[in-house]
Amino acid sequence: MNVFKFGGASVKDASGVRNVVQIMRQNLHEPICIVVSAMGKTTNALEQICNAYFNQTGEAVALLEQLKANHLSIVRELFPNERHPVEDDLEDIFAELYWAVEETQIKAYDYEYDQIVSQGEFLSTRIVAAYLNACDIPTIWIDARDLIHTDNTYREGSVNWEQTQHAIRARMGAKVLNNKPVRFITQGFIGGTSENFTTTLGREGSDYSAAILAYCLDAQDLTIWKDVPGVLNADPREFPQAQLLPALSYYDAIELAYYGATVIHPKTIKPLQNKSIPLYVKSFLDPNAPGTCISENELRQEVPTYIFKKQQVLISVSPKDFSFILEENLRDLFELFSQSRAHVSLMQNSALSFSVCLTIEPNRLETLILQLDQKYKVRYNEHCELITIRNYTDALAAQLIGQRPILLEQKSRHTLQVVLREIHP
Ligand code: ADP
Ligand code: ASP
Ligand code: MG
Repeated sequence: MNVFKFGGASVKDASGVRNVVQIMRQNLHEPICIVVSAMGKTTNALEQICNAYFNQTGEAVALLEQLKANHLSIVRELFPNERHPVEDDLEDIFAELYWAVEETQIKAYDYEYDQIVSQGEFLSTRIVAAYLNACDIPTIWIDARDLIHTDNTYREGSVNWEQTQHAIRARMGAKVLNNKPVRFITQGFIGGTSENFTTTLGREGSDYSAAILAYCLDAQDLTIWKDVPGVLNADPREFPQAQLLPALSYYDAIELAYYGATVIHPKTIKPLQNKSIPLYVKSFLDPNAPGTCISENELRQEVPTYIFKKQQVLISVSPKDFSFILEENLRDLFELFSQSRAHVSLMQNSALSFSVCLTIEPNRLETLILQLDQKYKVRYNEHCELITIRNYTDALAAQLIGQRPILLEQKSRHTLQVVLREIHP
């Protein structure tokens, strides 16, 4: 079995969906599990709808109308000569969304978010499945909530690997159907709790869904289809001259993703590494180009690679009682970071102070600072940026840092990391 993941950019419109079918036509002889994200910017639109509902701004229904019109127009472009039954599936999903945003008893934000925002992937997979089937590529649609089992940490579901493996193998074990390689399609980003509530795995989590499926299916490989030629040595949106990295080790890829290279979700690589499943990052615009192959290899990247992780918060604390930073302080600090779902990107400590650069939601930051303030003198800067340069040279570092003052720096033989204020927060 191979696993293919198509992200939002690859299915943003009708021609994107047609292109997916083209790519599938080139791979008719293998059983494939296809994981699909919400179309284009649908997840952002659903977040807006969720916020409008939660804050009762009165805009939720109009925003839903717009989203529905966008999806229907894609369906009608794909099926110009008929009213395809997939429209009924979309009507059902939108009916549920209308009910959700008209409900007067609003529950916890994270819970509401997952019930509403997850629907983007149901819309896209219904459409893509209908089109594949119409193009004579029989594909079985599966609800990801029946495959990926999580706890009830809404917006960041933690996977129950044992249950997930069992469910995936039970439902997707077949490799042939009517003597032909079987094709499954399911939603990225989504899981389900043991009480049948929907969870999501965190923004951009469809790559991770695909890796979970690849792991549980003992897949031959996983290909994620992107709007870039593969993994480059910098984000081409900011550095148009960025170069393709044709091969990467799992180790290098994990570091790139962890420090902010958004081309791959950071949780994607570990499950693949555990089973030595290669990950291909390829362009859906040029499917025959080799892209990047991430695998177990001894390759050490020599090319300088630079990653900018934005929207970081830099916090420095020192105990109010003038004691040193001891193990107990560190334990308590990490307990607080974990409770506030902060993700630590970099840390540094001295005898009297501890500094940490992290990603945290603004509303959770406020609570964290209040909690830290009980025992520590706290200083913090929002709108920071962590720059990681692997295989740095002093000249490259000087060029990327420019005149900005360095708030925190860490250097090893090959990697330089600095925290700076963002230029355009
Ligand atoms: P998806 O459609 O799967 O959600 P994403 O938009 O999340 O895809 O990821 C692809 C984007 O990642 C590219 O358009 C590119 O701008 C960005 N990106 C950031 N860093 C890199 C990098 N080092 N190499 C390639 N692309 C990168
Ligand atoms: N649709 C989700 C998002 O935009 C998940 C994904 O695309 O990876 O965050
Ligand atoms: Mg994405």
